[in-house]
Amino acid sequence: MDLKGKTAVITGSNSGIGLGVAWELARAGANVVLNSFTDREEDHALAEEIAQETGVEARYIKADMSKGDECRALIEQAGACDILVNNAGIQHVAAIDEFPVEKWDAIIAINLTSAFHTTAAALPVMRKAGWGRVVNIASAHGLRASPFKSAYVSAKHGIVGMTKTVGLETAKEPITCNAICPGYVLTPLVEAQIPDTAKEYDMSEDEVIAKVILEKQPSKEFATVKELGGVVVFLCSDAAAQMTGTTLSVDGGWTAA
Ligand code: NAD
Repeated sequence: MDLKGKTAVITGSNSGIGLGVAWELARAGANVVLNSFTDREEDHALAEEIAQETGVEARYIKADMSKGDECRALIEQAGACDILVNNAGIQHVAAIDEFPVEKWDAIIAINLTSAFHTTAAALPVMRKAGWGRVVNIASAHGLRASPFKSAYVSAKHGIVGMTKTVGLETAKEPITCNAICPGYVLTPLVEAQIPDTAKEYDMSEDEVIAKVILEKQPSKEFATVKELGGVVVFLCSDAAAQMTGTTLSVDGGWTAA
């Protein structure tokens, strides 16, 4: 796949899936803009490493995806945006009647509303360029629920709905909008849940991985960030030109059941 000359903006990409997606897009030739809410030397170093290894242009732009004006400023500062990957996300696990309001608000803002702002800002840029790809990193939790994840499940179902709507609104244009629905991928977001879950279930961390986390995933394996990056590259290819407003599951069979 040759994405040479295209610019990809990946929100929440100094870690995990977003970083893996940035690497695969860069390997496919796209210039990449990395993002998170921090502004550390190591954030910028990630972009330098990608540029050095792949030969594309890579930059890191700080923008807090919980703030609408910063979401829109990210697209403006990127200067170009042929590919938008809405990936930034956080998680909090608690029963709904004990769910902290500020966690609910932050999850809805970062996992859902940020994609509204970035997409709204990016579509005019894509229309001007005559080509565009919006890829939303949703989740198996955009299609199925689990207890104690009300905010996350609501945000992910919401982004699947937004994906369908944007797919329809851009259907007659050379722009597509799709959502990828990963099952479990071993990233900091998932690793952070393991110690608490182990305490809750009185299990070892290995048991939590096998009996709680991968219990939902029939393949009994985590998906990898490289595999997810490959699916994003596919959605940017000519072969995917007629795929829009839909979801692609990468979940080891979770949602087949
Ligand atoms: P991660 O914690 O490694 O990555 C989350 C990224 O979002 C980080 O780069 C973080 O800096 C960024 N981020 C958080 N708050 C932000 C903010 N306010 N502004 C800008 N960036 C912010 O986790 P991950 O697993 O790579 O998650 C990436 C996406 O994939 C999320 O949307 C998550 O819901 C989704 N997802 C993950 C899994 C999984 O099993 N890991 C499964 C399905 C979906």
